[in-house]
Amino acid sequence: MKILVLNCGSSSIKYQLFSMPEEEVIAKGIIQRIGESYSEIIQQNGEDEIKITKTVKDHDQGLKVVKNLLTTKKGPLKSITEISACGHRVVHGGEKFTGSVLITDKVEQVIEEYIDLAPLHNPANLAGIRAVKKMIGDIPQVACFDTAFHQTMPPEAYFYALPYELYQRFRIRKYGFHGISHRFVARRVANLMNKGKYDVDLITCHLGNGCSITAIKNGRSVDTSMGLTPLEGLVMGTRTGDLDAAIVFHLNRKGYSLEDQEVIFNKKSGLLGVSGASNDVRDLEKLAAKQHERAKLALEIFAYKLKKYISMYFGILNGCDGIVFTGGIGENDSIMRKRILRNMESLGIVIDDDKNEQTISCEGEIQAKNSKVKIFVIPTDEELAIARDTYTLASGHQI
Ligand code: ADP
Repeated sequence: MKILVLNCGSSSIKYQLFSMPEEEVIAKGIIQRIGESYSEIIQQNGEDEIKITKTVKDHDQGLKVVKNLLTTKKGPLKSITEISACGHRVVHGGEKFTGSVLITDKVEQVIEEYIDLAPLHNPANLAGIRAVKKMIGDIPQVACFDTAFHQTMPPEAYFYALPYELYQRFRIRKYGFHGISHRFVARRVANLMNKGKYDVDLITCHLGNGCSITAIKNGRSVDTSMGLTPLEGLVMGTRTGDLDAAIVFHLNRKGYSLEDQEVIFNKKSGLLGVSGASNDVRDLEKLAAKQHERAKLALEIFAYKLKKYISMYFGILNGCDGIVFTGGIGENDSIMRKRILRNMESLGIVIDDDKNEQTISCEGEIQAKNSKVKIFVIPTDEELAIARDTYTLASGHQI
């Protein structure tokens, strides 16, 4: 069965074509800068790489480009109708979705209702769903939500201590994100430990451009660092993470509008804001090695915040079987992993320096022999996770 996986962002479409159940990636590509004067398009299938620059005005047109690229002479498909099902990454499923679902009119309507909570992402996700319907017709489409895995959090974890009516009127609460990735790596670790998926207690750290950490009890999310939006929690490439909300009032009195602050907190803070140099840890590690003070400070703040969350979640879980690193930073930056986990021996967390340095961009265990807690590096694969759920649901099975 050929399954198309779509990750439609506000100005991009990432796609992968899978052959399932073999889990083979037949082709993948990305369209960036949708809506700008020129969009960049790259597609790879096997040895072939196609690069194009052209105007793509919206997601509808973007999907047409995807269709053309997949069905060119050298392309992997003769006809777009060879695609049997399509899986979508959908950012916000609010309180309605606890897992992936087949998309119906009702599901579309709920995704639309949650535009209020994800104004940049849910409209793009909906545009993708509708464009597929127009282009391929009535094939099964599946929505995999970033929020769904975290719907098992207990109220004490997801409530903010605000007046209760704000939850009742506006559903203001912690939702959490990156759930597809946290779930994927948690299931993989259970597998590696020869345990059932609901038999593991883990702390999973997804460290990419966005960063979040999740406490997993018996295979289910019981707390996570991102909140109502993906701004809360850890320090990120350009996002603040946790802040004293009074900073908003203070900056407002200093002349910064709410719009200014939204841009500052999301786009100009985090590693970039502190270092003044880059949002990319590769650049910052190089600068830190040359004693660039603010690059060092940015990396230390990043690590410290993560260490604080790991310690909190370790307490909440009353100990755990493993700590898992994933995402671009988690999978590749061994210096950062060491920075985070140093001096945690009292919790039984001890990293092995050699194993850590050797485990770059691959799966592995990096704990020392005397570590009571296992430490895993697991490359995430959100597209594969979506392809699996889509295959399961499109074949008429339950997840
Ligand atoms: P996204 O969250 O957009 O999926 P990634 O998971 O690819 O992004 O993470 C991107 C970040 O991962 C980059 O900003 C960079 O800091 C880090 N990263 C990627 N590759 C490496 C590498 N080889 N070494 C160190 N850090 C890396």
